[in-house]
This record gives sequence, C-alpha cells and structure tokens, in this order.
Amino acid sequence: MDAGLRVQDLSYRYGAKVALDAVSLAVEPGRFCALLGPNGAGKSTLFALLTGLLAAPAGAVHVAGHDIRTHPTRALARMGVVFQAPTLDLDLTVAQNLRYFAALQGLSGRAASGRIERALDRLGMAERANETARALNGGHRRRAEIARALLHDPAVLLLDEPTVGLDASARAAITAHVHQLARDDGLTVLWATHLVDEVEPTDELVILHQGRVLRQATAGAVARGAPLTQVFLDLTRAAA
Ligand code: ADP
Repeated sequence: MDAGLRVQDLSYRYGAKVALDAVSLAVEPGRFCALLGPNGAGKSTLFALLTGLLAAPAGAVHVAGHDIRTHPTRALARMGVVFQAPTLDLDLTVAQNLRYFAALQGLSGRAASGRIERALDRLGMAERANETARALNGGHRRRAEIARALLHDPAVLLLDEPTVGLDASARAAITAHVHQLARDDGLTVLWATHLVDEVEPTDELVILHQGRVLRQATAGAVARGAPLTQVFLDLTRAAA
C-alpha cells in the first residue's frame, strides 16, 4: 500500500479569487517535505483541502493510497494534523489532553496509555506528562500537540506553520523532532512554513506562490549551491 501523500491538479477559488491553481505534489514515506510560501501563497487553503475542511471542485488527493473524495474516512484515519491555532485544553495535563483525543479516536484503557507514553517519548515530552498544558512554554505545548497527532498511528503528518510565535531554540527542537519522525519511523511529513531557515538541504521542497507550485525537488537541488533565501526571493519575484 502506498503510504505517501499525492496531490494532483488541485484548484480552489474564493469567489473570483484563485487561491490554488492546479497544484500537484507528491511526498514519499519517510520524507520531510517543506511547503514553503509567503503569506497568501495558498498554504492554509491547501491544508483545508487535504483535511476535508474544504472540498475541491477539481483535482485529487490520495492519503496513504486512499482517495479523500471517495473514501474520506479511510483517508483521514491515516492522517495526523497539527493546525496553526493551538488547541490544547490549558487546564488539563498533557496526558489528559492526549487521553481525551485517544478516546475520540476510539482508543481507551491500556492501548491508549501505551500509545500516549510512546508518542510523548517520541517528542521528548515523557517527563511533562503530568504537567498542565498551561504550565508549559509554547514549544512544549506544540510538541504535546504533535504527540497527540501521532496517537492513531498515522502514515501522513500535516503541520501548518507549527513554529509560529516560537523562539529560535524551540523552533529548532521541533523541526529536529519532526525530521527524526520522518527518518526513523517512515512517516510522510508535509510541513508548511514561510521561514526558509526551517528547510534542510535534504528535505523535499515545494515552493508555493500565488496558488502555484514554482518548484518541487530536494532543497539542495533547488538551491544549487546558492543561499536558499536568495533563490526563494528570486523565484517569487520572477513569478510576481
Ligand atoms: P497562506 O496560508 O499561504 O497565507 P491562504 O491559503 O490563507 O495562504 O490564502 C491564499 C489566498 O486566498 C490569499 O490571497 C488569501 O487572501 C485568499 N483567501 C484565503 N481565505 C479566503 C477567504 N475566506 N475568502 C477570500 N479569500 C481568501
């Protein structure tokens, strides 16, 4: 079974405003794909289509081999999502937040406990399990949300600008953890960002601008030895 993410010719408009124009991309299992685009590029619209919040009039999305249009339940069951807006209950502990989500997924008792322990461990959060979310800093809250998104053992993990508002060291820790999830666990990762410094040379890179994919290749191949920031600016300026 194909455990990757495939997007083909996806288009979307808000009234007369074209937000996505025939976007295609593919991410293989075990790969970290950075979806890089300035504000307004269409990243959030793409996430809304991938997660079924919006329905695309044209194009196709396959999650781990499941067509999101014809088999939405199966497709969404294979997907973990971290949205831009924080969604932890600040009055609950980290473990309680995860247990609640596990129950929504139909997991309870010992199975849930094992998965919660493992997910927190994967994000370096095992020692924080019994702290309230309110007591955590922003970086640790984000890590708890990523752990929660892994509880149902998804094949594909989507993160929409997950480091917004975090300081440099928290950003670095989170990007390192998620790279490790892709590498060690074979997870397919799509990471939306407008920050070039979150992209590593071996990452898959999709540059999105004004609803169009300008490039898809490894970041190293896109940069070809030049600073990626400059390449990104040149590409988006040339397309404006
Ligand atoms: P990004 O997440 O990359 O900042 P968005 O997907 O939010 O980009 O936006 C893509 C384009 O669609 C932008 O031009 C934005 O102004 C427009 N857009 C987004 N949401 C709406 C909406 N609800 N109504 C009208 N236009 C919208």
